[in-house]
Amino acid sequence: MGETIKMTEVFGSNVFNDEVMRERLPKKIYLDLKRTIQEGEELNRETAEVVANTMKDWAVEHGATHYTHWFQPLTGVTAEKHDSFICAPNAEGKVIMEFSGKELIKGEPDASSFPSGGLRSTFEARGYTSWDCTSPAFLKEDASGVVLCIPTAFCSYTGEALDKKTPLLRSIEALEIQSLRLLRALGNTTSKRVIPSVGAEQEYFLVDRQKFLQRKDLIYAGRTLFGAMPPKGQELDDHYFGTIRERVGAFMRDVNLELWKMGVPAKTQHNEVAPGQHELAPIYAEANLAVDQNQITMETLKRVAARHGMACLLHEKPFNGINGSGKHNNWSLTTDDGINLLDPGKTPHENIQFLLVLTCILKAVDDHADILRASASCTGNDYRLGLQEAPPAIISVFLGQQLGDVLKQLVDTGTATHSIKGGKLMTGVRTLPAFSKDATDRNRTSPFAFTGNKFEFRMVGSSDSIACANTVLNTIVAEAFCEAADALEQSEDVGLTCHHLIKKYAAEHQRIVFNGNAYSQEWVEEAARRGLPNLPSLVDAEPALVQPEAVAMFERFHVFSQSELAARAEVKLEGYAKTVNIEARTMLDMAGKQIMPVVIRYTSRLADSINWVGQACPEADVSVQKELLVEASAALVAMRKAMGELRTLTEEAYAIEDIMQRARFCHDRVVPAMDALRAPADRLEMMVDKELWPFPSYGDLIFEV
Ligand code: ADP
Ligand code: MG
Repeated sequence: MGETIKMTEVFGSNVFNDEVMRERLPKKIYLDLKRTIQEGEELNRETAEVVANTMKDWAVEHGATHYTHWFQPLTGVTAEKHDSFICAPNAEGKVIMEFSGKELIKGEPDASSFPSGGLRSTFEARGYTSWDCTSPAFLKEDASGVVLCIPTAFCSYTGEALDKKTPLLRSIEALEIQSLRLLRALGNTTSKRVIPSVGAEQEYFLVDRQKFLQRKDLIYAGRTLFGAMPPKGQELDDHYFGTIRERVGAFMRDVNLELWKMGVPAKTQHNEVAPGQHELAPIYAEANLAVDQNQITMETLKRVAARHGMACLLHEKPFNGINGSGKHNNWSLTTDDGINLLDPGKTPHENIQFLLVLTCILKAVDDHADILRASASCTGNDYRLGLQEAPPAIISVFLGQQLGDVLKQLVDTGTATHSIKGGKLMTGVRTLPAFSKDATDRNRTSPFAFTGNKFEFRMVGSSDSIACANTVLNTIVAEAFCEAADALEQSEDVGLTCHHLIKKYAAEHQRIVFNGNAYSQEWVEEAARRGLPNLPSLVDAEPALVQPEAVAMFERFHVFSQSELAARAEVKLEGYAKTVNIEARTMLDMAGKQIMPVVIRYTSRLADSINWVGQACPEADVSVQKELLVEASAALVAMRKAMGELRTLTEEAYAIEDIMQRARFCHDRVVPAMDALRAPADRLEMMVDKELWPFPSYGDLIFEV
């Protein structure tokens, strides 16, 4: 048993948070910094200098030797370059630790080593990281020591965003401006700020590290590229919320401890649907912080897993035939004086502000379903979306019974006069306490579901940063709020105009609402009839980002410029083609060097057996051995042929200059060729002796953690 954790002492102990700042900074400096954090005022030089020095002292007291500007380039993982605090030795030969205001607010990593999607060739290679004081600095402890991590944004010399944080911050600002306009127009004079809140539920798999290391596909691709289904999959549903095994429990405890120290409020943990799959959810936070905290969470899961002799797989689809992993992005909008704009109250039909906000969101999602879909595209997600386990690639909104009914009243009669009530939960057992149930059951199949006082966007992939999804969500909602605010500000009768807008949006965008089973084939057909976009893959979805309407919207709200959007689409498509290429080469390697040799050994054994048995006992029936030999040899031939085809296609793909065409070719030709190679190999796995098979099976990986 580990020692007891004292939550109150542990939580945030590695964060340079408000409490530490209040305690350690001179009052004037503290207030200056707070103004920058809360009101977006520019940070002055003197303040930066004092903050830097105080931050350094605090970090060094906690054992830090290095600092890093911590940022999120377009690779999707966080980047850091460590510098030590050590400065030139003084006259007595002692080192002094220094950290200046300049070093705090500005860094200059070599921008040319990060993907920029052409922004680099058109502009300068220089890139700067700049301190984002709205996300607190924190200490990261690992085997290499303690490092002070300073969250930063990463931009090119000309101010173009080269990262995920910059556009997110811009979108938060855009949404705040439009939300405040809307609130003012509706008569709210008190709220000063409106901030999106986000809570991301992180799914992941754990496998034994030794077994992980025996599989090149897991090492290079993060997912299995071969593997026959074990006799037992997830059909019994006995893993979901099942008792957490001790080894996994010890891992979770460590993860929580590390996260709490870094101020990440990890809250719930449970086993997920698939064997070996788990979930971790924090308490929600302001969007910018929540994005950073999710990056910290992913890093921590990986690091701690290694320490516990396991590997954490964040890939969206580590195992074919078994549920993949996603990241539910819970999103709401709250004012500084505590109003959640997505809280319907007990009688939503009377809550005009809520109904306007809700119908604006319906409009936003319907108008920009394709961009929202694209915001959740990542290579691994292609293997998950639409597979009866995750939402389809079609965006729709689940409102539930109560709001669905209010919306129907609005569409049918122009006014909503009543709200369906939740009632009491009747268990039939008198000793169980009776409690009011929600007015609506859940719908797990919807990609964008209203869940009481927030929306849950369920399409995001488990390995992906949630920055992009939230950037898009914030911007499309800002646009809808802007349109509504325009109308309200010009109106003589705000109440009437508001009513008209609600009715209009409800009627015009009701097609995006779907409360049924989104996993079903009928929905795919129904969605097509409604004219909703169905963009099944990354390659289909990505071009949405650079459509003229999308560009116009992002430019209008100063979230992305045209060139930034083009750059992002290019980086993603290029990343896709590269990933497919790596996977194809890994398959060829495993097939050629590992699988074929053991199959040949297996067939030789069969041939030997047929000969020996035939000699020893001519009347013995060796038809089974012969059948197996024929079958295995046929599969071997199929593998060999598929390998040749895959190799040719991989080379062909590589030669395509145009990135969109290359990605398209990878999707249409290379991926099916990979499937064609996998099929005979998986058949062989079911025939060949277990002890010969060159790497751990699905069963070994997911049932024996
Ligand atoms: P579930 O049953 O789907 O797991 P939870 O209520 O546990 O739902 O919440 C899941 C996530 O949503 C958590 O990270 C939680 O903090 C977050 N969350 C809860 N309320 C809000 C809100 N108003 N805005 C944003 N996120 C929220
Ligand atoms: Mg959820």
